[in-house]
Amino acid sequence: MLSPEKTREVQSWGRYPKVKHARVTPIYWRSEIPDLASSEQPVLPHAYGRSYGDSCLNENGVALDVSHLNRFISFDEQTGLLCCEAGVSLADILEVMVPRGWFLPVTPGTKFVSVGGAIANDIHGKNHHAAGTFGCHVTRLRLLRSDGQRPICSPDENPELFQATIGGLGLTGLILWAEFRLKRIVNPYIDADHIRFTSLDEFFEISAESDKNFEYTVSWVDLLVGGEALCRGIFTRGNHNQSPELARKRLPKRLPLAVPFNLPQFVLNTLTVKGFNELYYHKQLPRRVHRIESYDPFFYPLDSIHDWYRMYGKRGFLQYQFVVPFEGGREAMREIIGRIRQSGAGSFLTVLKEFGTIKSPGMLSFPRPGLTLALDFAYAGEKTLRLLDELDAIVRQYNGSVYPAKDARMSAESFQQFYPRWREFARYIDPHFSSSFWRRVSTTQ
Ligand SMILES: Cc1cc2nc3c(=O)[nH]c(=O)nc-3n(C[C@H](O)[C@H](O)[C@H](O)COP(=O)(O)OP(=O)(O)OC[C@H]3O[C@@H](n4cnc5c(N)ncnc54)[C@H](O)[C@@H]3O)c2cc1C
Repeated sequence: MLSPEKTREVQSWGRYPKVKHARVTPIYWRSEIPDLASSEQPVLPHAYGRSYGDSCLNENGVALDVSHLNRFISFDEQTGLLCCEAGVSLADILEVMVPRGWFLPVTPGTKFVSVGGAIANDIHGKNHHAAGTFGCHVTRLRLLRSDGQRPICSPDENPELFQATIGGLGLTGLILWAEFRLKRIVNPYIDADHIRFTSLDEFFEISAESDKNFEYTVSWVDLLVGGEALCRGIFTRGNHNQSPELARKRLPKRLPLAVPFNLPQFVLNTLTVKGFNELYYHKQLPRRVHRIESYDPFFYPLDSIHDWYRMYGKRGFLQYQFVVPFEGGREAMREIIGRIRQSGAGSFLTVLKEFGTIKSPGMLSFPRPGLTLALDFAYAGEKTLRLLDELDAIVRQYNGSVYPAKDARMSAESFQQFYPRWREFARYIDPHFSSSFWRRVSTTQ
């Protein structure tokens, strides 16, 4: 039987939707896993809930809290191969490995995600054009299936189950541990450039030049400027600094701020977003600023504000991240930005990047070559859902896709168009695993 113990509430980062689970079952030891097949309700692993929507939720089902599976297993100094339990967070890895001269192969915009979560969403980072997704660096993992089997999966061993598990949304079984390759660094600092741009065309120019010479690229954008320029923003690019002297320099301490309570819904509106954008865009006086930064603020600017989802108030918010192929990408952006402006909905944090051509290993991996934009919308009921449905329609028209890790509402029809291998994937789902997301998107019309 599964333990009935309830340790904590399980939510996703956007606080939308709010769902109840039948139970939250903590998993403490790899050797002491409850009998998953005996559960009357479907089960789903849940780590740190940094997914925004419902892919980490399992309404009326069982959430398997894997955050306690957080032990390091081995590290090979020669090859950089790290093996650890799946609940180890990227923050833990950085703390132990950066002082030893190693870095994550791929990291998202927060370090508070688990290795299991990084694999299950096949996450991408600022170096997608140079390194592909996290799954590209995974050499092996051990899965636990509800029938008690513990297959090793790798590109050579059980390769189909491996491809289903990378980006497999936690549905193919519980990842107990994973092995992946870290990259060497000389010191914990980044040579960073921050460049203001005034239009989408200028973004394309800087991006084309930067992707050749910089390992990391990303842009903050303001979509509310209006006119033909479509957007303005700040392009950030960087490389690991190569100076051995800096290896001895102490890292500056980051003092975390916190949003202590849910802000009232009216605080974030088009006017405040406009105001914030104006301040942020002008935070640097020169067009281009070059500086040497420690890795933490460069990769994780938002991690310094704890519980920042509270800015969106009690009703929560929806993230929306899509990718559209380069061909037609400009037109797609024009339509999408136009539609957002027309709706009056302001996105507080908007991030634009070009994905590169390195193939993602998962059957359901989201990244593919093209232009990707991530937006946040405060949840304002039906009108937010309607707007996102309209954006889906444009993304579909341009043969793009929407990211499940950030989704809470896409229709089955959209999902099935975005992920044409979904039926092939479904063959590898563990019969006792399911999620709120999967039940929604896998219904057949
Ligand atoms: C501020 C912020 C910035 C972000 N930036 C990015 C970004 O730049 N790029 C990007 O790709 N994503 C980004 N994300 C999304 C985030 O990286 C993913 O949602 C990630 O998967 C969350 O990991 P988690 O450990 O919190 O897992 P959860 O959210 O708890 O779970 C995520 C999925 O992993 C599965 N899972 C977790 N552990 C296991 C396990 N042991 N075995 C099997 N399945 C498991 C769950 O079932 C679920 O399907 C960001 C999120 C935030 C909040």
